Amino acid sequence: MQQQASYASTVVPTLVFAACWFMIGLAIFGTLHCLCRSKDQPFWRKDLKIDLVYWFLAPLLYSYIALVLRSYAIDYAHLDQMAAYVGRSLADQPILVQAAIILFITDLVQYWGHRLFHRQPLWRFHSVHHAPEQVDWLTSVRIHPINFILYSTLINLIISLAGFDSRAVIALLPFNTFFGFLVHANLNWTFGPFRYVIASPVFHRWHHTHVDQGGDKNFAPTFPFLDLLFGTFYMPKDRIPSVFGITDRPVPNRLLGQLLYPLTRRASA
Ligand SMILES: [Zn+2]
Ligand SMILES: [Zn+2]
Repeated sequence: MQQQASYASTVVPTLVFAACWFMIGLAIFGTLHCLCRSKDQPFWRKDLKIDLVYWFLAPLLYSYIALVLRSYAIDYAHLDQMAAYVGRSLADQPILVQAAIILFITDLVQYWGHRLFHRQPLWRFHSVHHAPEQVDWLTSVRIHPINFILYSTLINLIISLAGFDSRAVIALLPFNTFFGFLVHANLNWTFGPFRYVIASPVFHRWHHTHVDQGGDKNFAPTFPFLDLLFGTFYMPKDRIPSVFGITDRPVPNRLLGQLLYPLTRRASA
């Protein structure tokens, strides 16, 4: 049995990390919001407060559970032995090369995982992320705990199995956090000719529109060419996304209601 990290030793650093990144995100995206935001949305988004709670709920709750699940999976499936065999050559690569490989592999896995989350029974969890009718950088953290834990456990297992150096994983954390903020930000940025290479705010904000407006497309977190490859790319050049949210059934406005919502009969209908 692996040595299990304590709750405090896991949560305190992630809480500090979350607080630091919130301040950095606020400085960068608060400035961009003041200078470059699309005027289709009000300055103060109505779901802002609840998304802020999600931001600090994540390190308090999800990070430790995801770590424990990963640890149990490694113990019971003997993934550490497989990792030593599979990952011998990967762990010898420079950290940045490993980080680039991790980024691509996790994007591919998340692309298909994300598509699964848009189908029942997983949609009832993921719909909490899609419920806001106004989207900006902080919407990136509104993720139901089950959605987060399933995603992060799957990603953690793949990274562990491949035997990557943990420093490469840590090196990606700031990038992933920043990029999550960026693609949700209320900015009409498309990245022009690079629109197929790297996800832009317009690319991911189309994903948050109603299904009949072009939603249910653009599933890749970072690399839009995966959507191009699998036939789900959607980015019309003459329009920008402006109507967000879901139309099938309303998700509660309050935090507790959102956390319990996937268990209700309405969510599974
Ligand atoms: Zn989605
Ligand atoms: Zn999103």
